[in-house]
Amino acid sequence: MVKVILDGVSKRFNGTSAVDKFNLEINDEEFMSILGPSGCGKTTLLRLIAGLEPLSEGRILFNDKVVNDVPPRDRNVAMVFQSYALFPHMTVAENIGFPLVVRKTPEEKTAERVKEIAELLRLTDLMERKPRALSGGEQQRVAVGRAIVRKPDVLLMDEPLSNVDAKTRAYLRAELKELQRDVKTTLLLVTHDQTEAMTMSNRIALMRYGKLVQLGSPEDIYEHPKDVWSGSFVGSLPMNLINSKIIDEKGTRAIEASCFAPQSPKNLIELLKDQKNGTQFTLGVRPEDIEISKKQISNFTCESDVHLLEPMGDSLIISLKVVDTLMRVKTKPGFEVSVGDHMYLLFDWNRTHLFLSENGAESLSDKNP
Ligand code: ATP
Repeated sequence: MVKVILDGVSKRFNGTSAVDKFNLEINDEEFMSILGPSGCGKTTLLRLIAGLEPLSEGRILFNDKVVNDVPPRDRNVAMVFQSYALFPHMTVAENIGFPLVVRKTPEEKTAERVKEIAELLRLTDLMERKPRALSGGEQQRVAVGRAIVRKPDVLLMDEPLSNVDAKTRAYLRAELKELQRDVKTTLLLVTHDQTEAMTMSNRIALMRYGKLVQLGSPEDIYEHPKDVWSGSFVGSLPMNLINSKIIDEKGTRAIEASCFAPQSPKNLIELLKDQKNGTQFTLGVRPEDIEISKKQISNFTCESDVHLLEPMGDSLIISLKVVDTLMRVKTKPGFEVSVGDHMYLLFDWNRTHLFLSENGAESLSDKNP
């Protein structure tokens, strides 16, 4: 039963900041993902929690105990790596039981626990095999088994699914989620894969340049991105971003952009009521929140010719150049359309996002219901 608290945690390597004043509380038995691009400091953060790196600044607490100076072996933390790091000369059973053997656990007790873990992870039939005779997915399950055999208080996973094919990954995602619920451990997963973070976690901590950008449930982060970067990073396709401006004419307020005629959607005009005439902002609209049709839609937002088609199997992505903006629309797989067709687009204004200021640091989208 451990709650992990990161209190102003920083880590610098030769003056370069890898983790910067990071604050986060991971609740007991929570499945938390740290999601961010390559190099943003995710692995460093895990290594700090495991005690494999000393902190430059701040405190790490397990419940109310500061563990900054507690060595890794006394933290009851287990780690699963991207590379699995299994012992090639040991069988599956020996790999899983290894952490108990080094702690001189009685043989009988070790065998009992290994059997239990093998059943939980459906590895019973593979116990005598060596890692080289296992698939990537099976090796990953062994690595997870070895990590949980000691009943760790905190389980840390560093990109654990990146070495397996897409189908196995989808399968393991569900399996890991179920496993975490069964073993009731606090789990921190780091990943740059937003699907992984979205599908598995209770909450996501979005990280960039060593800093916490946004913390929330997957739905929260998807529906209410805090800034332009967050809106573009989370989502299977990047958000369409449109440079826009407020214009007041003859007592009527509207939104102006190069790719559409002035629009006055009620909800957005209400959100912008405190902003001055001429204020520039970024309008964000996800590809799945745009209706597209060959027939003219009443009150359509913009129109253009199809530039590119990307069939994804379960959907079709249509790209269009609308004046100077490249717009992507996600539609159903059987949608009949060809490159060059003239199309009409209608934004779902209730699902658009507003980002004020040049870098979109201030978002009004959290107020868009
Ligand atoms: P990836 O997803 O690519 O694994 P990451 O988000 O896990 O990246 P880290 O591995 O934590 O990122 O690295 C964060 C930054 O710290 C990087 O700029 C990296 O080069 C630097 N860094 C990490 N470890 C060291 C080290 N031991 N010495 C010097 N710099 C380091």
